Amino acid sequence: MTREEAEKRVAELRKILWENSRRYYVENNPTMSDYEYDTLMHELEGIEAVYPELITPDSPTQKVGSDLEGAEREKAKIANAEDGIKTDFAQYPHRYPMLSLGNTYSIGEVEDFASRVSKALEGRVFTYSCELKFDGTAICLTYRDGKLFRALTRGDGIIGDDVTENVRHIRNIPTILKGGSWPEEFEIRGEILMPYKSFEALNKEREEDEEAPFANPRNAASGSLKLHDPKEVGRRGLWCTLYHIPSDNVDFDTHSHALDAAESWGLPVSDKRRICHDIKEIEEYISYWGEHRKDLPYATDGIVIKVNEMAFQRELGFTAKFPRWAVAYKYKPEQALTKLRFISYQVGRTGAVTPVANLDPVQLSGTLVKRATLNNADQMALLDIHVGDYVYVEKGGEIIPKITGVEKSRRPVGASLPDFPKVCPDCGTPLVKAEDEAKWFCPNVDGCPTQIKGRLIHFLSRKAMNVIAGDATVEQMYDSGMVRTPADFYDLRKRDLLQLEGWKERSAQRFLDSLEKSKSVTFDHVLFALGIRFVGESTAKEIAAHFGDIDSIAAASKEQLLEVEDVGEVIAQSVCDYFSDEKHLIEIQRLKADGLKFSMEKAEENVSAVLEGKTIVISGNFSISRDEMKLLVAKNGGKNSSSVSGKTSYLLAGSKPGPEKLKKAAELGVPVIGEEEFRKMLPSLEGAQSGQSDGPENGPKENIPEDGWDGIEEEPNLFDGI
Ligand code: NAD
Repeated sequence: MTREEAEKRVAELRKILWENSRRYYVENNPTMSDYEYDTLMHELEGIEAVYPELITPDSPTQKVGSDLEGAEREKAKIANAEDGIKTDFAQYPHRYPMLSLGNTYSIGEVEDFASRVSKALEGRVFTYSCELKFDGTAICLTYRDGKLFRALTRGDGIIGDDVTENVRHIRNIPTILKGGSWPEEFEIRGEILMPYKSFEALNKEREEDEEAPFANPRNAASGSLKLHDPKEVGRRGLWCTLYHIPSDNVDFDTHSHALDAAESWGLPVSDKRRICHDIKEIEEYISYWGEHRKDLPYATDGIVIKVNEMAFQRELGFTAKFPRWAVAYKYKPEQALTKLRFISYQVGRTGAVTPVANLDPVQLSGTLVKRATLNNADQMALLDIHVGDYVYVEKGGEIIPKITGVEKSRRPVGASLPDFPKVCPDCGTPLVKAEDEAKWFCPNVDGCPTQIKGRLIHFLSRKAMNVIAGDATVEQMYDSGMVRTPADFYDLRKRDLLQLEGWKERSAQRFLDSLEKSKSVTFDHVLFALGIRFVGESTAKEIAAHFGDIDSIAAASKEQLLEVEDVGEVIAQSVCDYFSDEKHLIEIQRLKADGLKFSMEKAEENVSAVLEGKTIVISGNFSISRDEMKLLVAKNGGKNSSSVSGKTSYLLAGSKPGPEKLKKAAELGVPVIGEEEFRKMLPSLEGAQSGQSDGPENGPKENIPEDGWDGIEEEPNLFDGI
């Protein structure tokens, strides 16, 4: 390769790697497999090794992938807001950088690692700690005086997001340590995982709610760790395993003794670790888990081999990105080769058209795969896929099948390029594609049967109006011509339902009772049920809380909508578009007349009006939880807002307030007050009541069930010692 060619390829590879790193870490929505990503990264490393002058500090080979938003914030916000994922955590620097691991898919390279280490240690005797490589998202916990003090994500390796409140809801992370031999303060690192069982339950729920399923347990774990609502984090059944104590005040001779001690303090540490003395034992470990990892209840993607002696670890040190004393051996994803019979095109609730590969059935990781997603037209072009081709199928994170490549050597003569439809396969309307979107859409929002049925199903779904009715019921009602818009449901009478095939007195009454009950569903759920594009469950909550009622939302300008946390340009525009459509306003009037709730309930029993007209943003930790603090504001007539703007009266800052909020308040001249000052503003009874908590550094205590868990019940014995 000439230097000129190298320069060109380096630029290409960096662009692809940066883009996919963003999709993976920020959006939690990877579109290439880890193996493909790692292969491209190794290609880049290879070229940079030959032409070191091409290495730049921002090359993906020099930096760990970051889940902090930076310039990508707005883009990630749209994707994340729909999923209830928060993007403005307080951030703190790591005491010791959180690095990545050098990785390889080749046993030969593990052997090279072992020889490199032996050579560097000049023949001195040492051992290896071999461990499972857990496929989740990294976490760094700090314990102070035996109590969980802070939990940070890896972030960009230097600064992480503070997810302490969420971590307190993960069942097997102790908030208080056992015994008393722990150091006064120490850090311990590990992985937050979503076991398969929780992952399947979560994706089933999401599919029922017409939300996009998570691609794999890793993405689900990392998305869940960043949710707004700590209780929802608890419900998701996350799990933690800890594998490294970096603090140099924790003085152990070996890494494995440090982990044994952590275990004795009540911390979750894997019992699958093994001390190996040579490459033969390492290879046995690799091959054993290559076979048996399928039986584990959580995802692993390889094993990690670490020099066990702490003194030798210190001696070997780090590169900018990896420790020199460890390497990860990754298992190649299971792949199958099969024939692509034809491609079908599915229209979703939003009108997006997704190509689906229909395959000759093939066994893959224990299941029979018949269909796989092709994502969009660009992906099809990238694969250069032809109908009749033999294609490689992989399970992304071992769950959702995906086509990752085409075996061009087996392309049959006359295989044809697929014709991406120009018109909607359902209603025949010409498809459209916005410049910045990867998907083609059917624009016939009001006439395309699939889109209408999709919206009706969404309206009744559990997180929206929570009416007991399956998809088939809604389709039956639509096909019979009884229902076209959500308000039509509320016009249905028993005699109408009894005309439908298979309906009896009891089923009709059950449906009508459920519809009646839906009238008490709160405004934020009703807003979500309307199905405004990009307005997911948590964004609906934010918008409902911010404006209070539907008329204020309908009257809001784009700028006013942008003041709502989690609302960026795209969401604000979508809300404006929705309310500028006369049909939607008529529909809302009908639903109002049916008795649905279109405003937030007034905070009951206001104790005073001292904060009337004041808009308050709270940030940081207080002697009571943030939710209690918000209630205190509301009960005294104030309005809570989640983002600082020109309209904010005060930024009420507890300990560790969000740096972004502080910065914005300073820029806009918004007064910043502390808890004490705030309480002085309240009538003496309220102001005097302070929380029962034992100090702000321990964070809010309420909302946490006594055993620290209110989530999906797992079988604890399965996870003992992970
Ligand atoms: P990594 O996942 O390859 O390895 C390092 C991580 O392993 C550590 O940060 C830690 O979180 C984890 N780990 C699990 N078990 C461990 C143990 N026992 N001891 C120590 N660490 C353990 O590295 P990374 O920097 O987190 O991510 C880079 C990888 O992410 C890439 O190699 C690639 O596979 C994947 N990625 C994929 C895409 C994509 O589009 N598919 C994009 C970006 C990154």
